[in-house]
Amino acid sequence: MLTEEILKDALHYGKAFTKLGKTAQYIPQLKEVNKYYLGVCAMDLDGMVLEAGDTRVPFTIQSISKLVSLILAIRDCGADHLFHEKVGVEPTGDPFNSIVKLETRTRPFNPFINAGAITVASCIKGKDADEKFGRFLEFTRKLCDNDAIELNHPVYESERATGDRNRALAYYLKASGILEGDVEECLDFYFRMCSVDVTAHDIAHMSLVLANHGADPEDQEELIEPQYAKAIRALMLTCGMYDGSGEFAMTVGFPAKSGVGGGIAVPLVDRMGIGVFGPALDEKGNSAGGIKILEYLSNKMDISLF
Ligand code: GLU
Repeated sequence: MLTEEILKDALHYGKAFTKLGKTAQYIPQLKEVNKYYLGVCAMDLDGMVLEAGDTRVPFTIQSISKLVSLILAIRDCGADHLFHEKVGVEPTGDPFNSIVKLETRTRPFNPFINAGAITVASCIKGKDADEKFGRFLEFTRKLCDNDAIELNHPVYESERATGDRNRALAYYLKASGILEGDVEECLDFYFRMCSVDVTAHDIAHMSLVLANHGADPEDQEELIEPQYAKAIRALMLTCGMYDGSGEFAMTVGFPAKSGVGGGIAVPLVDRMGIGVFGPALDEKGNSAGGIKILEYLSNKMDISLF
């Protein structure tokens, strides 16, 4: 059983690795974050909440937002259309922002690489970026059980000003007929969804919903259809940790989705949701200390799926 003492030991173990990582250097606002932050929050289905370290420090959700947008796009376009016409479900082995495979295979490999996530963002309904973002924000607040979640404007401006690689991906997708609609509007929504402030506590709750087959753990309201919660957990296992997903499956062994803001969301099905925050990233873009916390917990509690 997970105890506060085990969580504190895991945090202590992870701390040693923060100095080895770097904050995301390509987004000016993220570069400035204190890289020694580290926190972990775990929530189980009986209402137990355990926290250690910097669990209430806000950070931008970044790629973890791709879970939320994927659920909305499945609802809006249908899973068949989305996964047959727009994005695949296979790992790439390439960095998250890679452009290299777009020419040889038009459909992005999966919804979690940037090309895939921008495509998914284009499938969300709304008359403009404001309406799409309003729906995204409302759903994120629900998944995190926190109505105070808001956009971080400086990070959004920073991403918009420097996101030329994402612009290149989006225009390429438009030229290939994958991305429909207005490219700049789609990117504006994408930059905003990545720039929403959350905490490790929020992410633990979102993970708990996925672990609970898509149902709100408090009142059992269905927030995600169970079959899609299952599909998303599977995608998290194979593609959630960028091109480090294989190694993470070997050393840690459960579904997870990381973001370059330093967050990691971990749904342990029928057990608990874990949220981690540590902005010092390894060379793949995953939280260096965060991975070590999860490795410690996996070994200590023998909870690898394998
Ligand atoms: N906003 C980031 C980008 O598009 C998200 C990347 C990530 O967290 O993996 O570059």
